[in-house]
Amino acid sequence: MTAADHVVRSRRPAVDVPDVGVPTFLLDHPAAGPDATAVIDGPSGRAVTYAELRRDVARCAGGLHRRGLRPGDVLAIVAPNCPEWLVACYGAMTAGVVVSGINPLYTAEEIAGQLRDGGARAVVTIPPFLPLVRAAVAAQDRPVEIVVIGDPDGEVAFTEVLADGAAVALPPGLVDPATDLALLPYSSGTTGLAKGVMLTHRAMTTNVAQMHAALDVTPDDRAMAVAPFFHAVGLSVVAGVTLRSGGTMVTLPRFDLEDYLGLIQAHRITVSVVVPPIVLAMARHPVVDRYDLSSLRLVGCGAAPLSADLQQECARRVGCPVGQGYGMTEAVATITLFDPAVPVVPGSSGLLLGGVEARIVDPGSGTDLGVGETGELWVRGPQLMAGYLGNAGATAATIDVDGWLHTGDLARFDADGNLFVDDRLKELIKVKGLQVAPAEVEAVLRTHPAVADAAVIPVADERAGERPKAVVVAAGEVEAAELVAHVAGRVAPHKRITEVAFVDAIPVSPSGKILRRLLVAQERAGALPA
Ligand code: AMP
Repeated sequence: MTAADHVVRSRRPAVDVPDVGVPTFLLDHPAAGPDATAVIDGPSGRAVTYAELRRDVARCAGGLHRRGLRPGDVLAIVAPNCPEWLVACYGAMTAGVVVSGINPLYTAEEIAGQLRDGGARAVVTIPPFLPLVRAAVAAQDRPVEIVVIGDPDGEVAFTEVLADGAAVALPPGLVDPATDLALLPYSSGTTGLAKGVMLTHRAMTTNVAQMHAALDVTPDDRAMAVAPFFHAVGLSVVAGVTLRSGGTMVTLPRFDLEDYLGLIQAHRITVSVVVPPIVLAMARHPVVDRYDLSSLRLVGCGAAPLSADLQQECARRVGCPVGQGYGMTEAVATITLFDPAVPVVPGSSGLLLGGVEARIVDPGSGTDLGVGETGELWVRGPQLMAGYLGNAGATAATIDVDGWLHTGDLARFDADGNLFVDDRLKELIKVKGLQVAPAEVEAVLRTHPAVADAAVIPVADERAGERPKAVVVAAGEVEAAELVAHVAGRVAPHKRITEVAFVDAIPVSPSGKILRRLLVAQERAGALPA
């Protein structure tokens, strides 16, 4: 048998997308009438219709263009989910400007790092994050304009950008959807630090079209936008599919179980796409019983592993199917998705999206494996990234010359084409669905004078899925608590370590690479100190 005999092809038809940019694809289509509500700000209840969203997106595009932002420039957004996030995002994309969402819980240094790496020209934020954003901007060696949604406190007001843009006619042909970038999210991929993932308009519209074709979301659906817009699940799965379908979404700035349940009840939410910790809370938290969740017809879960047991437990509790999807930022958002037309296959991340091919490859021998066998998942399809920004080496290590993206995930297909993700080969740690790059936390640990060497590995955590654990070679007297505090002061909350194992040496390969898989195996066998 040749490798080609082992290729798993999608059972879904490939999708065709029109030759338009992301905003046109999502907003200018007949699915929703102009008076239909596109997005509701959860905390205030403020509703924005499709007509208003289209108008503000056009104004934002004009305003950014007038302020000198040109196609290919990068606009960062440091804000929680709110309707203006989407106006800024699609407004920028309309003007050909590339959007880079940043986790608002990042430290000033983390924000500064992403601004610098992406070469951001401007950043949109909200007043509570202004001090952080100012500090991050001050650390840049080029001017970065700050735009504030709300009281601008001396910076540029977002409302001013919109007002400025009202009379601007953009020059035609600003965006070539096939080649121009729309989004620059950050992902560490299989190894190293976070890298800018270059996603074209075409990749994004294709992935939304693939998901839209696989699901049955309609203009009558109301979706919860709880997954953050700076991550693929929030922006492409929730916002992308909801808008393309002509439905309504309700934004939640940060996850709070009671706020979330209250909004589901108040807005008669029908669809919610979440990460595993929310499935856990919905399945087990006593407060869930106090809310009427009968409007829910579908819960989707992705971004991290979800066990078949928990999936079924949640479905029983909320009274609707809980389906899974699998994907990665390097493929916009989604690669496989459950089929809502058939009973959910528990524990499976679903079927390949239309036009996607896959292989399961033995990581040791490089040979292709068959049905039921676990190996590294390789995928090829129209929604893959154009590459990592300024990092041809990492791009070549991730997407091979034949176009196969080596996911770094260990997975298998059953005879019906259902994907099961079994484990991770790559060093990435996922905490509540968010990425933690071990190399980044290790670098922070090594800045402590009492740390001679450090490795960071995932440990299982019931609520977060995983959390990072430090394995440290001490250079002197130091308590675990001191290292925990050292890291906590320098990274976003989800990257914090909660335990430290002191060892005599970190195992490395002959070429000097940390053998994290060996440490993970030792941890799972209980052979590492707690
Ligand atoms: P991100 O780029 O942040 O979306 O992270 C992508 C990674 O998250 C994948 O390579 C997997 O390791 C993990 N992941 C995403 N979806 C799933 C899933 N359904 N089951 C298990 N792991 C997943």
